[in-house]
Amino acid sequence: MTAIAFIGLGNMGGGMAANLVKAGHAVTAFDLSADALKRAGEAGAVPAATVADAVKAADVVVTMLPAGPHVCAVYGEQVAPAAKPGALFIDCSTIDVDSARAVAKAMEEKGFAFADAPVSGGIAAANGGTLTFMVGCAAARFADVEKILAGMGKAIIRAGDHGAGQAAKICNNMLLGISMIGTCEAFALAEKLGLDAQKFFDISSKASGQCWSMTSYCPVPGPVPTSPANRDYAPGFATAMMLKDLKLAQEAAAKAGASTPLGAQAEALYALYAANGGNEKDFSGMVQFLRGVK
Ligand code: NAD
Repeated sequence: MTAIAFIGLGNMGGGMAANLVKAGHAVTAFDLSADALKRAGEAGAVPAATVADAVKAADVVVTMLPAGPHVCAVYGEQVAPAAKPGALFIDCSTIDVDSARAVAKAMEEKGFAFADAPVSGGIAAANGGTLTFMVGCAAARFADVEKILAGMGKAIIRAGDHGAGQAAKICNNMLLGISMIGTCEAFALAEKLGLDAQKFFDISSKASGQCWSMTSYCPVPGPVPTSPANRDYAPGFATAMMLKDLKLAQEAAAKAGASTPLGAQAEALYALYAANGGNEKDFSGMVQFLRGVK
């Protein structure tokens, strides 16, 4: 059993904190939202009144916050001044690579170990304890990080040093955004050509067009019963979230001098879809946008 502070109990963090409790850890929790804090209490965590209260006796601090500025502010202004010397900090939020590296450096200078550990898998995986973690940390600290994340995930992979977890996450999600648009275009074209969607799925899922966006998360209703297409594109993984990750990928590409023209197109298309009613829909609803369906 480890004393863990969990900060950020939203859609993802709520289930993750509950799974750490189920794994036998003593979890103290904090969120700005009173409702989120109440739910964490009902799941067996001890609600704290402030970040400082939550972290002061913890050996490990886990955060699941919206974006880079929240992570920088929470660690720099609230966690570091109150945490136990030598505590291990694990940030599971999706943020930009530069912020992850800057926070890691600042925390290590204060004597704390830090890992970026963003996740793949949405709210269902967070609740079910089946997330995939991509970890950026010193090799010598990975075993400690893995032990904590094991209570929340099915796969924990060290991508490299600080920032490497975030790099893996944005590269993966840029690929996902592009492949989903390609899959949606193919279904939209098949429809215009009079080809039955199920028939196209049966063929392409066994041919060279096969990809995760088709066989695990098919953007049209029918072929994959669990996909959001079967529930009017309720997320799942919201377009707003995909757009956030595509923006992070484009910012990183611009800084690193990488050529990512399809990533840029994917960002532009998802921005258009978001501005035209798709923001809160699942990102596979892109097929409706391409078909001109409101
Ligand atoms: P969310 O908005 O539901 O939760 C964020 C929580 O952080 C909120 O409850 C908010 O009150 C809290 N918070 C914000 N500032 C805080 C502060 N200063 N102190 C304490 N609490 C604070 O978001 P989410 O969907 O849980 O996503 C969290 C992170 O996970 C994001 O970085 C997101 O990109 C990433 N992510 C989300 C998904 C998904 O499907 N939702 C999937 C993979 C990764």
